[in-house]
Amino acid sequence: MLNRRRFLSVAAAGAGAAMFARTRKVFAASYDLIIRSGRVIDPSVRLDAIRDVAISGGRIVAVEAAVAGDAADTIDAHGKLVVPGLLDIHTHAGRYPEGAGLMLQDGVTGWIDAGSQGADRIGETIANARSSPQQGRVLINIGRAGILPEGDTMDLKRADVDAARAAIAQNRDYVAGVKARLSRDVAGENDFEVLRRAQEVATSFNLPVMIHMGQTVSPLPKLIDLLKRGDIVTHMFAPPPNSIIDDSGHVLPEVLAARRRGVWFDVGNGQAGHMRWDTIAAIMKAGFWPDTFSTDWNKNAHETGVIDLPNCMSKLFGYGMTLDETIARATVNAARIFPLFNDRGTLNVGAPADVAVLELRKGKFEFLDNYKNKITGHQRLFPSATVLGGKRAPHA
Ligand SMILES: [Zn+2]
Repeated sequence: MLNRRRFLSVAAAGAGAAMFARTRKVFAASYDLIIRSGRVIDPSVRLDAIRDVAISGGRIVAVEAAVAGDAADTIDAHGKLVVPGLLDIHTHAGRYPEGAGLMLQDGVTGWIDAGSQGADRIGETIANARSSPQQGRVLINIGRAGILPEGDTMDLKRADVDAARAAIAQNRDYVAGVKARLSRDVAGENDFEVLRRAQEVATSFNLPVMIHMGQTVSPLPKLIDLLKRGDIVTHMFAPPPNSIIDDSGHVLPEVLAARRRGVWFDVGNGQAGHMRWDTIAAIMKAGFWPDTFSTDWNKNAHETGVIDLPNCMSKLFGYGMTLDETIARATVNAARIFPLFNDRGTLNVGAPADVAVLELRKGKFEFLDNYKNKITGHQRLFPSATVLGGKRAPHA
């Protein structure tokens, strides 16, 4: 049985606890989600430090050493990297209804389908962009039948300016640019004229052109001359013939001039013909680094050397790129290229809460180019969790 003094102290403690609980409710912040204790790397604000990231209402509301308060959901990111949601500007996610969801598990919170379809069937890729959980847009292939095994524009009639213009006019909100694939086996001798037509279409809508370079019939300088500020060269590591570097290890003056006038250079990992370690080594050594990484993603990515965007990002560590420089190329840099990503690629307070939690594992990792050549790296990024619009994305 409680004596009177004991009874009073128990009652007082109870009252105090109740009052404290009320005070907490009123004064301490409560968030939808807190990502705790990760190494936050956000090149957009030059941050690399252990931080908590608090999210409410789908937006980043605090990035601090220790966020006080509680949250409906918590991710323990201790020992992991917390970076802005990754942006992949060259994918073929639009080909598959499930593509966007698969890439979301890789940390990708925004994607561009780079020309899977042309005017005739652009509705198919757009349907998949519309139903995508994350932001997705498409580039229209200047070849009206899209990607063809026999070559998109080997028959020049397929590079149909009027058809492309009509398709864009009908889908202005989902077409983010025009794709021109220019390799010998895609456009043959038509490469220059195909690009000229792509540019004619793009400029009438103030859109960028993305060219797929490498192994072209025309010399690269002749093609690159047609590119304007804001256009994108993908497959920048493509080996000769017609790579961006000459035999003596000098980047072509026309390529340097293109970068100076605001043309972007993108990796576009892909599967065949787009990257070979010796060409990569020469280009990196010359100091001509990519502006963006991209996977050239297809549904079979896990069975090819692509795997996922974090894996593609890890491939240049051995060529001198730091972690911060790597992450910038999959976040803030990509955000500058397409207007729909303008408020993405950052963990700045107020930004939409798209976040990738990655693991940087140390060990021995094999990386593949497109010619079955392997290099061994000592660190590799792995996707761990994705937050989209403030909510944790379902994991496989
Ligand atoms: Zn592609």
